[in-house]
Amino acid sequence: MRPKSKGFFYVTTPIYYVNDVPHIGHAYTTIAADILTRFKRLEGYQAFFLTGTDEHGQKVEKAAQERGVDPKAHCDEMVKRFQSLWQRLNISNNDFIRTTEPRHKKVVQQILQDLYDRGEIYQDSYEGWYCVPCERFWTEKDLAGGNCPDCLREVVEILEKNYFFRMSKYQSWLIEHIEKNDRFILPTSRRNEILGFLHGPLEDLCISRPKKRLRWGIEIPFDTDYVTYVWFDALINYVSGIGYGSGENAFSHFWPQAIHLIGKDILTTHTVYWPTMLQGIGLTPPGMVFAHGWWTVEGKRCPNRFRMWWSRTG
Ligand SMILES: [Zn+2]
Repeated sequence: MRPKSKGFFYVTTPIYYVNDVPHIGHAYTTIAADILTRFKRLEGYQAFFLTGTDEHGQKVEKAAQERGVDPKAHCDEMVKRFQSLWQRLNISNNDFIRTTEPRHKKVVQQILQDLYDRGEIYQDSYEGWYCVPCERFWTEKDLAGGNCPDCLREVVEILEKNYFFRMSKYQSWLIEHIEKNDRFILPTSRRNEILGFLHGPLEDLCISRPKKRLRWGIEIPFDTDYVTYVWFDALINYVSGIGYGSGENAFSHFWPQAIHLIGKDILTTHTVYWPTMLQGIGLTPPGMVFAHGWWTVEGKRCPNRFRMWWSRTG
């Protein structure tokens, strides 16, 4: 007879951008998640550890074009670098999700349709600034000296019709949720950072990209002229990877006590976009988002010599 489980434990890493060469930062998050999972298994928990790759968006489309290959074929080739590295590091993940898999696409479209039917998504014209490398829109006031506030590279002006998620209406709910749950965002310095960010007005989230500009994404189910914004698509892996909407038991066992391990650079998407998206479809936010710092050498993030070392395979 199987010993009685102590309960359920669910940990995730971010899904890594398939175009990236695996580096020490990826390995750090993944090894930390592996240690947690192995410990919980020893304690008698039924633990589920999910990792994977983020495969849509402009950068992948562009890289594939430059190589003259189909974007999916490009991803199929690139994903192996991550999969073989996790094998070499003896990582004990239960599943590996790729955002180009049908099981994921189905859930993204299901959630989009659900939000649309609930009146949580509307169409509007958008005027703003766009950073191609980061694939993010910025308003005039976000810009740092006219450049992208995240990567400090040049931005391009954009005017187009898009779909928006009513994220702004969840602002006070989100502040209350963060204040009531002191383990939702850890460490405390990161929690304070997000509470500080939420002092300003929260805007609605642009969740689509016109196909005339980007084709490599998940089609919006209620308007086939558009694909889904890559971040909206990517975050959903945390529920599609455990069978949300498929009727499988895993989802009801492992959600919502999820622990998302992330790097500090993707804090806003995980603690603002993600919980409000979930709230929009009536799901409870994850139990914890833990944002760690970066590995640096002489003050610089992920230097090339580390990238090269990790990417060596065979
Ligand atoms: Zn940028």
